[in-house]
Amino acid sequence: MTKQPYDVVVIGSGPAGLSAALAAAESGVSVLLCERLRTFGLKLLASGGGKCNVSNILDKTAFLNAFGREGRFLKPALDFAYHDWLFPFLKQWNVPLKLENQFHYFPVSERAGDILNAFLNAFQNAGGTRKKETEVTDIIVNDGKISGVTLNDGKMTECRSVILASGGTAWPKLGGTESGLNLAAKLGHSIAPIYPAMAPLLIRDQWVRNLTGISLPDSELSFRRGHTRFHNRGELLFTHEGFSGPCAIDLAASLAESCDRNGGETTLLFRADASRDAAFWRRKLDLLRTRDGKKLVRTLLAGWFPHALSDAFCRLAGCYDRKISELTAPLRERLCTLLSETPLTAIGAGPMEKAMAMKGGVKLREINPKTLESRLVKGLFFAGEIMDLVGPCGGYNIQWALSSGRLAGSSAGAAVSAGDGQTTAPRNEFTGK
Ligand SMILES: Cc1cc2nc3c(=O)[nH]c(=O)nc-3n(C[C@H](O)[C@H](O)[C@H](O)COP(=O)(O)OP(=O)(O)OC[C@H]3O[C@@H](n4cnc5c(N)ncnc54)[C@H](O)[C@@H]3O)c2cc1C
Repeated sequence: MTKQPYDVVVIGSGPAGLSAALAAAESGVSVLLCERLRTFGLKLLASGGGKCNVSNILDKTAFLNAFGREGRFLKPALDFAYHDWLFPFLKQWNVPLKLENQFHYFPVSERAGDILNAFLNAFQNAGGTRKKETEVTDIIVNDGKISGVTLNDGKMTECRSVILASGGTAWPKLGGTESGLNLAAKLGHSIAPIYPAMAPLLIRDQWVRNLTGISLPDSELSFRRGHTRFHNRGELLFTHEGFSGPCAIDLAASLAESCDRNGGETTLLFRADASRDAAFWRRKLDLLRTRDGKKLVRTLLAGWFPHALSDAFCRLAGCYDRKISELTAPLRERLCTLLSETPLTAIGAGPMEKAMAMKGGVKLREINPKTLESRLVKGLFFAGEIMDLVGPCGGYNIQWALSSGRLAGSSAGAAVSAGDGQTTAPRNEFTGK
């Protein structure tokens, strides 16, 4: 039996789906928003420790550059809907934002739920229908065009357009699933390999794992893939499997990919104090030799690092029980090199259960960035993390989900309103473009 037909069906109620559903409904077409879980926007609710880091202060160019080589793909969506749309919209729904660390935007209330409710209420106001515990199990295409979806009750719902905003596979307990990727693949879309992003790094060296719980305020991690050097600086946390913390997690996706391509491992260079290079340590050790010659090296290094780390450095350099005056020149040089670049063996990142995002997904070349419509199936649109794009930690991914959702929803609405005509880039009511 066929259920009531809708113009647009949106799959997933994360920030991408919420934004897409609202934009489509505002364009005057009938919209059904489907969420397979019992709670709408579960990952959004958990984001930013429940406070939701919804965006950041960057201008559009700096924002898209943070997504790496694929960043150009973001441009039409950001031009269509960025801060100039999002901030007034949230304000209008009584969700003013505040700035933290002069970079991150959060709701003043520090409640992610306020952002979720703003979108749900606006969607309801615009006449949209939403259903939870409703999984889309199939997208039906006839003559290369969308004609409906099958829901988990086995029944078909007719529609003319589908927006796939089903997110990625990260953090399954908060909704991560392959479901949407499988739907896209079934319709002929290619899926770029999946890796955990914004996740802990896995390090083979046992001495690192033995330092679980230690944190360093300003470290640097780096590695090379071909001519490209990946690096990050910031707070670093030692875990029983390697590293976590802001310095580590933004490297997760590229490191996991490198390990995958390199037969399972990659050399990672660790600088415990990012602001101090080998030259600094050479000068410092020379000074300490003359001033504190009788002291153990590890006691002196504990002036810069936690005791356990300073002990570990001295063990690695082979000077654990040595006084600084006893170090030969080669041994001093070995210690300086270790302090500025400790080589470690990384064996990947993850697991996906602890990853805040997914790298990989529906390949971008099969999506038109101006409308976010599939280049393979007419009437199929994409929004959010399901696409092969991921930003670093810091409000990038939710802002991208919201911006891409707005463009996909408006494009789908415009295409349905235009009947069987061409899908053209929708008009932006904020800029008039
Ligand atoms: C713990 C945590 C904290 C985070 N904090 C931040 C932060 O502060 N700032 C930031 O920018 N990013 C943050 N992120 C990342 C950010 O939450 C995601 O990138 C973002 O939610 C992606 O949005 P989305 O709408 O594309 O997908 P999702 O939010 O994953 O939503 C997709 C939804 O689709 C549903 N779904 C999937 N398949 C189907 C189907 N077949 N039928 C029906 N429904 C389906 C899923 O159940 C899910 O609810 C965080 C992530 C995690 C895990």
